[in-house]
Amino acid sequence: MNISELQRLNEYSFEIGPIRPPSEGGKYSLLVRVTRNCPWNLCKFCYGTLYNRERFELRPLEEIKRDIQTMKFISDDLTSAIRKLGYSLVQTELHLVSSPSVITVFNWLASGGRTAFLQDADSLIMRTSELQEAIRYLKQTFPSIQRITSYARAKTLAQKTKSLEDLKELRKAGLTRLHVGLETGDDELLRFVNKGVTSEEQIAAGRKVKEAGIELSEYVMPGLGGKTMMERHAKNTAKVLNAINPDYIRLRPFVPRRGTPLFEECEKGKFELTSPHERLREIRMLVENLDVTSRLCFDHFVNAWYREPHRNYPLFKRDFEGYKLPEEKNKVLALIEEGLAINESTHIHVRDLMKIPYL
Ligand code: SF4
Repeated sequence: MNISELQRLNEYSFEIGPIRPPSEGGKYSLLVRVTRNCPWNLCKFCYGTLYNRERFELRPLEEIKRDIQTMKFISDDLTSAIRKLGYSLVQTELHLVSSPSVITVFNWLASGGRTAFLQDADSLIMRTSELQEAIRYLKQTFPSIQRITSYARAKTLAQKTKSLEDLKELRKAGLTRLHVGLETGDDELLRFVNKGVTSEEQIAAGRKVKEAGIELSEYVMPGLGGKTMMERHAKNTAKVLNAINPDYIRLRPFVPRRGTPLFEECEKGKFELTSPHERLREIRMLVENLDVTSRLCFDHFVNAWYREPHRNYPLFKRDFEGYKLPEEKNKVLALIEEGLAINESTHIHVRDLMKIPYL
């Protein structure tokens, strides 16, 4: 292949879903879309945004395999181009390629080709045998892949039809980590945001994942209870997390998204957003009540508290491994005190985060 032939790669394309967690290699994960959209799509803070209002669809196994085959063609062609022309030249000339599929595979290869993320919102809703086969096929096609992760709904995981044996089979096939949106452990707040799951189901789901030997990331949304449910949100979330003891607790403070029912409620003054200091106090309550060995992560810029007036230094580190509990609990609590001692206007108010168009 010479450099002008790079354009030929534009013929290749496979389906790519809209989102994946930043902790999964960011733009460096191989993205394999196994379902389309979210089978629930009714959470009040999300409806109509992440997956628009698109209908949920299971993708036939043959279609998923075809996508993986296309990834293999792209990967083989890129690998031979890199061997022949050198990595730097291919990287420089990649502007000749407009296919997002090719860019995805290039980034994935450049980062070592080790991680893959199964899209979209609830891959575990697939029949276990089919998901297992998709994972096996992916690993067989790309033996360099060491980590395969996905999103899953707690409701799906808690169901009797998704047994512990099913999860163990998936682990055996190569599924290494699941990302679950816990948001809150408080049943009243779960009902309010229409999450479609109870705290009891969240606990059952989380424990099942852990027992199957699959790593678990639970996402928590500080601020979701507004001013009125702040305390019960923090305390009951800690209770649920204590009962699960996930590997990771990832904080994603609530930012109302335009077009969602909760955004409308905020606009009409029916939901009172908490201030940066109130959110820190809520997180303090959560952390004080945690009795886990998880890693607590602030790995998103919506954790918008700072140490300096000029906002150059985030209060909490934003890496994907965060703080190890309980060893670093006091460190996190000390940082919270530091954030509370700083003038509140140093931190970014959620109203300002709402102005960011891509959030
Ligand atoms: S389950 Fe997740 S993706 Fe689906 S509506 Fe709720 S938050 Fe959005």
